[in-house]
Amino acid sequence: MLQRLSIKQTLFLSHLLLVLILILGMSYSRYQTEWTTRVNFAAGTAEGALVPMLHDISLAVAGRSYSKLLMPQKKAQFHNIEKLLYLDIQGTSDYSNKDYGLRYHRSLNKVWRSNVTLQEIDAAKAKTQELEHARNHPSNQQKTRMQKLEFLINKSTRDINILQDSVHLEESAFIPWQFPAIPPGKDYVLSYSEHVFYFKLPLLNRNGGHVLAIFDASHLFSLKKQIYDALIAEAFVSLIISIILVYWVSHTLVEPLRHLARQMGKDVEAMDMSQLEELKRNDEIGVLARGINTLTLQTQSQMKLLRHESATDALTGLPGRNSYAQQAERFFNQTRAENQLLGIIVCDIDNFKLYNDTFGHGRGDDVIKSIADAMHDAMRSDDLCFRIGGEEFVALLPLSDAKFLNIIAERIRSSVEKLSIPHITENGIVTLSVGALLVTPSAKKWTYSNAFDEADALLYKAKDKGRNRIAIGTLTPHKPCSTTKEENRSSETT
Ligand code: GH3
Ligand code: MG
Ligand code: MG
Repeated sequence: MLQRLSIKQTLFLSHLLLVLILILGMSYSRYQTEWTTRVNFAAGTAEGALVPMLHDISLAVAGRSYSKLLMPQKKAQFHNIEKLLYLDIQGTSDYSNKDYGLRYHRSLNKVWRSNVTLQEIDAAKAKTQELEHARNHPSNQQKTRMQKLEFLINKSTRDINILQDSVHLEESAFIPWQFPAIPPGKDYVLSYSEHVFYFKLPLLNRNGGHVLAIFDASHLFSLKKQIYDALIAEAFVSLIISIILVYWVSHTLVEPLRHLARQMGKDVEAMDMSQLEELKRNDEIGVLARGINTLTLQTQSQMKLLRHESATDALTGLPGRNSYAQQAERFFNQTRAENQLLGIIVCDIDNFKLYNDTFGHGRGDDVIKSIADAMHDAMRSDDLCFRIGGEEFVALLPLSDAKFLNIIAERIRSSVEKLSIPHITENGIVTLSVGALLVTPSAKKWTYSNAFDEADALLYKAKDKGRNRIAIGTLTPHKPCSTTKEENRSSETT
């Protein structure tokens, strides 16, 4: 799958992955730090509110003095401890070795004893009855202390009420929390499910005991959401900035490479890199672009040279066999499509083998070159002239009038004759035989190949008739070659 991705996509995805890993890692560690700090702060605040009360509580436990902690002021003090939900005080008296148990519940707004026995209530009731009996049947001595008796009866009645209330609350008060085990070395546990802190603090009295306290921690969990929101916002902003940066990097690096690659996909000869912005860069891409540009220019010039060389005959400088193959048929079809007269002239040097055999190939080459120059000079600018074989040439002539075919063919033949290159033939000079075919626009059914064969046949006719002459014919609609209109021999025509 990775192989199918472009460089830009690979770069973008890998950077994005890296950025995501970094952002997630950093956000997680920031969250941990933030959360731990806040939890420790909240726990410290709660513990700090509770610890100053430990002294009073321990004293009450030591003396098993419930009245100290059951007073309304004490309840108000508990109530003022922010977020304190519940207290459970348990210990053993230092004087009587008896257990001490007291609870505070914020939502009930109650403080009560947790370890009241029925015997205690019975004993309190018996004591009250005794006091009431003394009040109802006072002795002389008691009569003087009636006011105090009344006070004691009231107090005893209040105590009974407290004891009965405590029993009732102990049985009925709903306490939704299950106190968990506190790990050693810690004072508290934070419950993530109940959103409360559980504290367990030791008492200071000799026989010991502890205070179990529950604090509301729901504010922490709403803070947790705030932390999440802040971190998500930060992560989102970082991600957007990173994506922009990643995109910018991949754009500035990969886009120029793609640009260059697009250029490379073009035909070398059609490539034009001169306007490329990448050429001006100072980095490796600039070096690459300039390198490709130099290579392209070199290749283009080599191709041009090669094309020219393959198109041109090296000896004569005339268009060669390749050019002929590419242009002749197209030129033929084009002139016919334009309903124009066309002349096809095929020329062959006479007795040239004999010339080579007599004067050598080197001189033979010179002759070919001179004859090519003469032919070229004999033709007009619109005419095409090719060297198609050893000592054979073809000329294609667009004609405004049929008479020009003969004129130009003769001009070619005579120009060679005028060169007066010595030969050992009967004429004593090198001569040329010419087959000239007139192609009329009406001869639509014939192909270029048909026409050339006819022109070539005319050339052989000229050879047959004795060389150094022109054989002219016309390509008609019905018959490839109608007539041989004219045959010129230099000695006869000039
Ligand atoms: P004809 O009048 O019937 O055309 O006789 P010819 O001798 O010209 O014809 P032939 O086809 O027998 O010989 C052509 C000769 O042209 C053969 C070869 O030696 C010569 N020739 C072909 N190409 C070159 C060339 O590039 N340089 C030279 N020097 N000679 C060439
Ligand atoms: Mg020949
Ligand atoms: Mg020849």
